[in-house]
Amino acid sequence: MQKITSLTLALTERCNFSCPYCPQPRGKKTLKIEDIMAFLDFLKPRLQKEVWLGFYGGEPLLAWPLVEKTVAFAEKKFKNSFHFTLTSNGSLLKKKHISFFKEKRFELVLSYDGLAQEKRDPGSIAAVEAALQNLQEFYPKGYTINSVFTPRTVSLLAASMEKMMGQGHRNLRYALDLSIPWEKPDLEALERQLARLVAVCMKHRQKTRGTPLENFREEGKTGVFACSAGRDRLALLPDNSVWGCYLFYDLLGHTPGYPDHKKYCFGKLPAFIAAGTKNKAVAVHYMDLRQDYFFTVKKELCSLCDMLETCSVCPVVAALATSRLGVIPSWTCRVKAIQTRCKEVFTNSD
Ligand code: SF4
Ligand code: SF4
Repeated sequence: MQKITSLTLALTERCNFSCPYCPQPRGKKTLKIEDIMAFLDFLKPRLQKEVWLGFYGGEPLLAWPLVEKTVAFAEKKFKNSFHFTLTSNGSLLKKKHISFFKEKRFELVLSYDGLAQEKRDPGSIAAVEAALQNLQEFYPKGYTINSVFTPRTVSLLAASMEKMMGQGHRNLRYALDLSIPWEKPDLEALERQLARLVAVCMKHRQKTRGTPLENFREEGKTGVFACSAGRDRLALLPDNSVWGCYLFYDLLGHTPGYPDHKKYCFGKLPAFIAAGTKNKAVAVHYMDLRQDYFFTVKKELCSLCDMLETCSVCPVVAALATSRLGVIPSWTCRVKAIQTRCKEVFTNSD
């Protein structure tokens, strides 16, 4: 493994939402601060000078004291410079949390689906919109809104993003649930929605010279995508197991008899700590998770695809559909082609 630049603490399995596209199994397990401290202490010699430390769930605000205690521990005991992030559904976010995030310079990811929130959890709209107003007032630079669309809600994509841009939110991102099939009419709807979104963003850019939409910003990165799980990233999950990325737990965490579980799980925390350098035997499996090693269900190799250098597919999301890591469902390629075309239209129109 390389030096670690990113750690995720999935604090709890508990969540007050049950979003239809969420792959996480619900439960009651929650990490203990002693385990978080042992995890960070063990990794101390392997951390980069600058480390991203992300709080995740379930809903991490349901385990708020763990956030405060972990930040205090990291600041007191480490010379590394930590960049904190937290991903929340926003429904429990209060001003006291926002003050803390601002003081500690957190990057907050707020999951809110715009006009599609109604189909996700209609009872949540008032609370999440109040939280967004507070963020806009007290910490406008510190958050990104991540909006997820599915084949069922894709028709609301452009109008949702336009509304949030109109409200003045500075950082927006849309994501698509690619773990379920996108049929031809869904792909046609996506193409129409993204064409409309390009027009909205071009109009916005004329006024402001920028775009709040992360998906259309230049990445400044070329080359073949490699999943960073287990390379320079690790995650501690609520059942105390260690993985290269929290998403592997969603895929494999509840099937311990499955051969891939053994391949990608570093074991429970005490075993992970006891194994020391022997953890390499698991880490090595993650090294194969590169775009040029992937192939589609029709056995078309990504290494021979024209889009190889611009395409990045999360292997776990693909495996949620195909049941095999490294195998990509056919609709993913079509979605990637539409997204690439639309981004190019936006970029080339500047
Ligand atoms: S478009 Fe499909 S085949 Fe091409 S690189 Fe992406 S996932 Fe692989
Ligand atoms: S590509 Fe997917 S599995 Fe790999 S690090 Fe990113 S989110 Fe995790």
